[in-house]
Amino acid sequence: MTDSEHLPADDSVTSARGGWAEPSSTQPSNPPVYQTTAFDLDGLDQLNAIVSGQQHGYIYTRDGNPNQSAFADDIAKLERAEAGAVGASGMGVISALLLSHCKTGDHVLAARVLYGRTVQLLQQLERSFGIEVTFFDATDPNSIPDTIRDETKLCLVEGISNPLMEVADIPAIVNAAGDVPVIFDNTFATPILQKPIELGAAAVIHSGSKYLNGHGDVMLGVVAGSRYLIRRTRQFLALFGINSNPLESWLASRGLRTLPLRMRQVSVTAQTLAEWLETVPQVERVYYPGLKSHPSYEIAQRMLPHGYGGMLSFDLAGGKPAVNQLLKSLHGIIPFSPTLADARTTLSYPAGTSHKFMKAEERAAYGIADGLVRLSVGLEDAAPLQEELGTAFKSL
Ligand SMILES: *Cc1c(COP(=O)(O)O)cnc(C)c1O
Repeated sequence: MTDSEHLPADDSVTSARGGWAEPSSTQPSNPPVYQTTAFDLDGLDQLNAIVSGQQHGYIYTRDGNPNQSAFADDIAKLERAEAGAVGASGMGVISALLLSHCKTGDHVLAARVLYGRTVQLLQQLERSFGIEVTFFDATDPNSIPDTIRDETKLCLVEGISNPLMEVADIPAIVNAAGDVPVIFDNTFATPILQKPIELGAAAVIHSGSKYLNGHGDVMLGVVAGSRYLIRRTRQFLALFGINSNPLESWLASRGLRTLPLRMRQVSVTAQTLAEWLETVPQVERVYYPGLKSHPSYEIAQRMLPHGYGGMLSFDLAGGKPAVNQLLKSLHGIIPFSPTLADARTTLSYPAGTSHKFMKAEERAAYGIADGLVRLSVGLEDAAPLQEELGTAFKSL
């Protein structure tokens, strides 16, 4: 059977080119999703012009796509960076950034308390590629100069650490690191509460899966920094195929529109809950930078003048059995969910999820107790959250 016997020729063309509407004389009020693998070129001159950077244009979505550029450029603007790039996830951009700047024999400085997977990634780079890592105490910037070597390429720190919410003194760390570029993971504070680049950081990375999107339905990462750093990182994102889907960036851009409102709201609710938790007899200790009792309170006054964010942790007096009982006694408003920065308040258990990869003694040394519970405060009012937790505490 020939093609023409199978279908009338026009039908094959119509089918193969399906989905195109007449161009509108009006602009859409929202950007379209550029859900396309490639972009058609009008000839070799245009191909050369785009590849050489003389003309702005896209060719293949692994290398670039308007939805990705829109989101990356907005984050760069908010972070006061020259440029930005997106990747498949927070881990994707951290991987690309590290691998594009470090080779075998190089050395990386990293804060002792980091997102669990970031620590695991650094350990893996050490084992697989011989990139050496020294972990330092980010609350003691004076310890940094002694760890710097000729081979030190980067210093990696989180603005607000997970899960004890220690706040980094960014100018002190940047100063102590000298010529070594400091990369800040700004996932917890977002550029609404903190702009590390203004304080001397070389670049900022984010899990876009968290507050930037804010609705718990996206996997995305974004990095913002100098044009040079972003160009290199972007090359590795494309080369290793750690690129993201256009729809993820489109969704994250939609989430971004409410970011200032959301960060203001979670900061107010988290402060209320943290102060209340300090009065609860079943709670031994509360970790929130907005509390006078927190070791980082002084630094937080300087680093987070617009609010302390939505992340808080607390130690239950009864340890792991009390955590187990607490989870059984929550009745549906606060789910046990191993993520953060959803619109809903979620609860997680660092010793069993994000920091499970550590040995028990290691966790204890970091201050991550078996009774430690982390709350990612969402957009609900404080009262129903307090009621849900209060009822569960009474069962302990
Ligand atoms: C979630 C998270 C990451 C990793 O981001 P993914 O998008 O989950 O890959 C990195 N750093 C921090 C602080 C995070 O919370």
